[in-house]
Parts: sequence; structure tokens; C-alpha cells
Amino acid sequence: MFETLKEQPADKILQLMQLFKEDPRENKIDLGVGVYKDASGNTPIMRAVKAAEKQLWEAEQTKAYTGLAGDPAYGDAMVSLVLGDAVPRSQVAAAATPGGTGAVRQAFDMIRMANPAARVFVSDPTWPNHLSILKHMQIETVPYRYFDDETRGVDFDGMMADLDAVKSGDVVLVHGCCHNPTGANLNMTQWKALVELLLAKGAVPMVDIAYQGFGDGLEEDAQAVRLIASSVPECLIAASCSKNFGIYRERTGLLMAVAQDPAKQKLNQGTLNYLNRQNFSFPPDHGARLVTMVLTDDALRADWQAELEEVRNTMLGLREQLAGELQRLSGSDRFGFIAQHRGMFSRIGATPEQVQTMRDDFGVYMVGDSRMNIAGLNKTTVPILAEAIVKAGV
Ligand code: PMP
Repeated sequence: MFETLKEQPADKILQLMQLFKEDPRENKIDLGVGVYKDASGNTPIMRAVKAAEKQLWEAEQTKAYTGLAGDPAYGDAMVSLVLGDAVPRSQVAAAATPGGTGAVRQAFDMIRMANPAARVFVSDPTWPNHLSILKHMQIETVPYRYFDDETRGVDFDGMMADLDAVKSGDVVLVHGCCHNPTGANLNMTQWKALVELLLAKGAVPMVDIAYQGFGDGLEEDAQAVRLIASSVPECLIAASCSKNFGIYRERTGLLMAVAQDPAKQKLNQGTLNYLNRQNFSFPPDHGARLVTMVLTDDALRADWQAELEEVRNTMLGLREQLAGELQRLSGSDRFGFIAQHRGMFSRIGATPEQVQTMRDDFGVYMVGDSRMNIAGLNKTTVPILAEAIVKAGV
């Protein structure tokens, strides 16, 4: 029977990881996969997470199942982290999921259940896995313009013009902060205009927030999602703890369904529980428990926030250094956008040929669409990358 299956396209980013591994050059630079790395190339376990893990090992008495939505304390802690007091907790249904990807997948499932004809509008470009999951689920996808190839900022006029086609019953997927893959983000005036459009059209926003704390700070990065959640009748929010807690492999995410009408909360919660049951039953608990411990213990939380700030500032410092270096080498300001972008990524606007040249001649590995992971750099490799960018003719 399985001979009827077709080869599936390989994930380009995972493929790039493999190519990097096989490259024997010692001074190669990995700017591919979206994992935070410190100056020596390690992805450390955050101090507070390690401390929580020790405490948990001592204190945990059982590994029995939790609930279908995960431990309620995790839901409470994460709803508060993402939404602050933008909406009353009683209006939010929340369920733990295997990573942010699990939350995205469950959100699409909920959309399809509620409206099989829903179209999902996605930024062009977006995280490739959004497109891949939507395609797999046979949900109609409509791209909206997002990235301005000239300025390397947001093409907001193009975006709003394309979203004019949105209808009631459609979903508009946005990145809450630190847009992946571009690094270009809306400002608050633009977010407000987007909310007005969504309200006028009666479309449902879905916010994917995978990098809270990596852009301008924990609170700042949540401003857009909070504005949306407090303004529209209903929305979905998929949050990931992979990056900001550094617990990638623990698979820790949360799907939230927010409704202004509190009567809908019960129906939404029941639906989230049902969908978890159908797809994987109980969600993973270990990472969620660590996150809960860190967020609810004053000392652990303070240490986590301090370390997250170090991570954020390291990336900002590398952005500044790279933009400065490029200005010096190119004698122009055209790379200033690198310091304006936020999060782990920047799309630098190189052609696939230029990306290939940087790989062949300089051992610099970035994704084919010229997305680079800023955290893959350190003070020593920034000048090498700057030279590669300029010499490749970007
Ligand atoms: N959304 C976006 C935009 C992402 O970049 C990622 C991570 N690459 C995720 C969701 C999900 O991450 P994870 O499943 O590892 O939590």
C-alpha cells in the first residue's frame, strides 16, 4: 500500500544544517536554523530553567497524566505572560501543545472545524512551515504582500491593499513580533490600522508569537498581540516557549482562543481539549512545568528575565556591529535596515546566486531566501560576514 506514497520535499532549513555539517572548512559560519547560540556557538540551558529542573527532580512525585489542556497553572502563567491584563482570564481558553508548531497546527484545525471554507491569509514571506501545514491540511492560503525588497522594511501599503480582499469568515495570520523570516515588523500605528481593517472586514486574526522577549523586550513584544486580543471579537494565539526559555526539544507551546463574549469561552475550551484528544491526547508536561516554575517563582523569574535580556541585547549588539561594518565596507547606508530589524532573523535581500557565492567562497550558510540567523554570529565572525555580503555584490 505504501508504495503509493510520493517523496515529500525535504525541509530546506534542515537540509542546510546537513550541508553545513559536511563542510570541512574550520571558519564556516552557520546562520541557518533558528536556534539561539552564544558567542562560542552553544545553545545554553538558561540558568533559571536548569535550577527549576533540579527542583523538579527533587519535588516531582508522579508522572501520571495531567489534563487534556495540560496543567492549568501553565495555562494561567502563559496567558499572563502573553496577554498581561489586556483581557480578563475568563475570556481566554488555553491548551498546552507540543511546541509552538503544535499550537499552530491545532489552531488551523480549529479554524477548519469552525469554517471549512475559511481562507488563511499569510504574509509573503512567512515561516515556511505555516505554508506546509496549511497545504497538508488542504486549507486555502492567500498570500499578502509584506516585505519591501527596496527598503527591506514592511510594505505596509501593499499589505493593506492585499488584505482588502479578506472576507468575514477568513483568517489573517500575523507574527506577533520578530517576523520570521524577514525581521521587519509593523509599528504600533500600523498595528492599529490593521486592527481597524480586521474589524471592518469581520475577519479573525491568528497571532503566532514565537519570539516574545527577543525583539524590544517581554512587554514591548506583546503589545501587538495584546492590542489585537482586546480589540476584536475573537482571535487565536499560538505561543512558543522554545526560544525565550531555550527549551526547544521539550516541545512547549500554548494555543489560546480569546473571545470578547465570555459565554464562548467554555465552547472554545471544550474544542481545544477535544482537538488535543484527537491529535495526541495529553500534551507534553516537562517543559510546561519548568516554564510554570520559572514564571511563578520571583527569584527564578528575575533571573530568567535578566538572562533573556542578555540574549536580546547580544543580538542587538551584533545587529549594530554588522550594520556599522557594512556601512564602512560598502560606503553606503543601504544596510541600515539590519539594525532596525528585530528578533533572531534578518532577510538581507540577496539573490539565490549571491547566497550560493557566500556559501562557496566564504563558508557562510544562510537560507536560500537570504534569511540569516543573527544569533549564529559573534564579534569575530561579523566582519567576515560583512565582507562576504559586500563581495557577493548584495
Ligand atoms: N512560529 C514561528 C514563526 C517560528 O519561527 C517557530 C519556530 N521556528 C514556531 C512557530 C514554532 O516553534 P516550536 O514548535 O519549536 O516551538
